[in-house]
Amino acid sequence: MDKYIKFLKREWANWAFHKSVQLPLQEALVSFTFDDAPHSAFTQGGGILEGKGFSGTFYIALSFLDDQLQEEASFSKNDLQLALEKGHELACHTYRHIDLSKTNLLESIKDIKKNGELFKELFPEHELRNFSYPFGAETLAIKKFLGQEFRSARGIGHGLNVGKVDLANLKTIKLYRDRLSLEDIAKQIADAKARKAWVIFYTHDVQENPSPYGCTPAYFEAVVKMCANAKLQVQTVDKALDLIDELSQRSKQN
Ligand SMILES: [Zn+2]
Repeated sequence: MDKYIKFLKREWANWAFHKSVQLPLQEALVSFTFDDAPHSAFTQGGGILEGKGFSGTFYIALSFLDDQLQEEASFSKNDLQLALEKGHELACHTYRHIDLSKTNLLESIKDIKKNGELFKELFPEHELRNFSYPFGAETLAIKKFLGQEFRSARGIGHGLNVGKVDLANLKTIKLYRDRLSLEDIAKQIADAKARKAWVIFYTHDVQENPSPYGCTPAYFEAVVKMCANAKLQVQTVDKALDLIDELSQRSKQN
């Protein structure tokens, strides 16, 4: 029942409110994103990206900072510091990793703002400019709020972002342990290249014996290599949006 209500709320939110943009891409674009984001996402996932000269986006819930009770989701301030120094993007995933479809609007907003404020205390030079929905839970009211407060919000709906896209509900392709084979991923990448799409991959932990929501370093590295071999542009979500803005401006001037 819970699942059904969550589904309905998400469907309604996505029917009733859009932050639409026509993607002006002349070639495919790829972003690698991590939710929560556990220590191994930074060390393994981030490390593999850096090996190819790429950067990723880490959607963090700061209640997991040094959280010894939820070690599988925990990260340290050092993880964040190093990520910023290496050019990765840190983005917002609420503070307490709440299910927004089960939390009232004011509580939800308070929680999201708390994440941003704490982040500012830790890193005054930076801000969290993009968002991902914990559990993929969306409501119309929160989607509207996020549409104003953040440059983008990524959901968990499967697919490529192509043509007219909803920046408040970006689509994604999961890099999960038991989800898509590397052959399937190769097909997605070829499809993205042909359609000049923005592919946003997402996972959680990157380690040997990963959780069902994560993947192994070998799998992750294979996907990164495919993108490098296909000569695709790999950018953080924030930099991808800069590029999209720039191309949109240019096409308006012409
Ligand atoms: Zn999450």
